Amino acid sequence: MTARLYIVPTPLGNLEDITLRALRVLGEVQLILAEDTRVTHKLLQHFQIATPVKAYHAFNEHQSVDHFVAQIEAGTNIALVSDAGTPGISDPGFLLVRACREKGIVTECLPGPTAFVPALVASGLPCDKFFFEGFLPHKKGRQTRLKILSELNHTFILYESPHRLVKCLEQLAEHCGPERLACVARELTKIHEEVRTDTLADLIAHYGSQAKVRGEIVVVVSGR
Ligand code: SAM
Repeated sequence: MTARLYIVPTPLGNLEDITLRALRVLGEVQLILAEDTRVTHKLLQHFQIATPVKAYHAFNEHQSVDHFVAQIEAGTNIALVSDAGTPGISDPGFLLVRACREKGIVTECLPGPTAFVPALVASGLPCDKFFFEGFLPHKKGRQTRLKILSELNHTFILYESPHRLVKCLEQLAEHCGPERLACVARELTKIHEEVRTDTLADLIAHYGSQAKVRGEIVVVVSGR
């Protein structure tokens, strides 16, 4: 069989969320490309997988994509992983998948963990239609994106860092109004998992009163 690219989602925190198929593929390919090789080595060690690992991250993907495509064309099956969740979702992946498709290389994306799906579904906000924004730009273009998002008629989803959470909620309240319902999903699948749905005003009061907000965060906001 000709070699392929496999996109392999990995757990967000709870190692039980790895799939049997992910373990098989990671064990069978000749090379794993990892966002952070140390993070991936820990995962592989836990599951006793000895496949070689090379770095593929935001800082080398442009330079290395052709090299890895050529390796697959030469017969090396490659799996791409990120630190957590699904590669390509606010993580490197898109460039490699596109380059493989352009060369006619079969690309398989395994279904598996990704942070926004459990956040959206557990939020209790409508999830029949939704818009995934990922990270907002920090400065230039942020206000424009917030304005566009605030006018959507369906639920939208942001990835945000803990130290910017309160500021982000405040900006959302400015654009969407303080009574708009939203959800902060924090530390999903981990010991301190918390999914809090409330008005933006109440979420600001709750997280604004904490000395420091910790953990990884998805913000889900109800449509207009
Ligand atoms: N590829 C990942 C995915 O499929 O969701 C996303 C990678 S992105 C670099 C990291 C962001 O995902 C975090 O800043 C946070 O917004 C979100 N995230 C990752 N793990 C999470 C968790 N356990 N709980 C809540 N959000 C999480």
